[in-house]
Amino acid sequence: RGKRAFIAGVADDNGYGWAIAKSLAAAGAEILLGTWVPALNIFESSLRRGKFDESRVLPDGSLMEITKVYPLDAVFDNLEDVPEDIKANKRYAGSSKWTVQEVAESVKNDFGSIDILVHSLANGPEVTKPLLETSRNGYLAAISASSYSYVSLLKHFIPIMNPGGSSISLTYIASERIIPGYGGGMSSAKAALESDTRVLAFEAGRKHKVRVNAISAGPLRSRAAKAIGFIDMMIDYSIVNAPLQKELSADEVGNTAAFLASPLASAITGAVIYVDNGLNAMGVGV
Ligand code: NAD
Repeated sequence: RGKRAFIAGVADDNGYGWAIAKSLAAAGAEILLGTWVPALNIFESSLRRGKFDESRVLPDGSLMEITKVYPLDAVFDNLEDVPEDIKANKRYAGSSKWTVQEVAESVKNDFGSIDILVHSLANGPEVTKPLLETSRNGYLAAISASSYSYVSLLKHFIPIMNPGGSSISLTYIASERIIPGYGGGMSSAKAALESDTRVLAFEAGRKHKVRVNAISAGPLRSRAAKAIGFIDMMIDYSIVNAPLQKELSADEVGNTAAFLASPLASAITGAVIYVDNGLNAMGVGV
């Protein structure tokens, strides 16, 4: 049978999660999505109304099928974690079973197992603030939504991942080099995510024969990136300075994810793979 993938962090057709879903679908995988609760209604209605049909087209001309969309908020592990104001919030009260543990249980009940887990989500409420001006709460929120969310997803999904399975997250070079403007503790959150990629690769590999890798992606004009505020400048900078002077397409990241999820990558784990037109290799801009 074909492989089954759960992709967390898709709420429109502009981001890396959508492109990864398409590349996996093109390679024959069944697609399950986890969509942030507050974005769920608009995403599902747009999907139903055909708003994404043009971007659902796969290389063979068929449309990507999405088998099921699960509501998800990856900052909550289980119901006991959810504060009253969130429970009472209209957008959250309209859905149920959206904590990480409950989503993993639902996927298990619906499908039994998965082969591929993708984490394509991040959030840093103070991302536009320099680190020196970031509050403790803002910093911890960035880590919770962008780093621990991955530990939690893998922890809850790994019992239903088939041996030989593959898990992928998305990171950014601000974890290891100074990128002014990527603030609020987001650079710290990506550093944690990359370090965790190695430790999780060891634990998941030994215990479950599951591979764990991260893709360090170049700049893409996604919804999340537009909220940071400097994305056009980063895209221009890359086109001027990278070894490959072209705009990065989300599909190039999607295709790398499909490779990492496939048996072609059966010895790759604990790695951070750059998909950035080579910009990471430059020492100075020219
Ligand atoms: P995106 O907006 O398409 O994806 C981010 C998603 O995270 C959104 O769908 C949002 O709804 C979801 N989300 C936020 N908080 C959540 C929560 N608590 N629970 C569940 N979902 C939540 O933007 P993107 O840029 O494609 O981001 C995907 C990943 O790629 C992120 O990890 C991001 O840091 C990484 N990345 C992006 C770029 C870039 O330039 N766009 C570069 C390198 C890495």
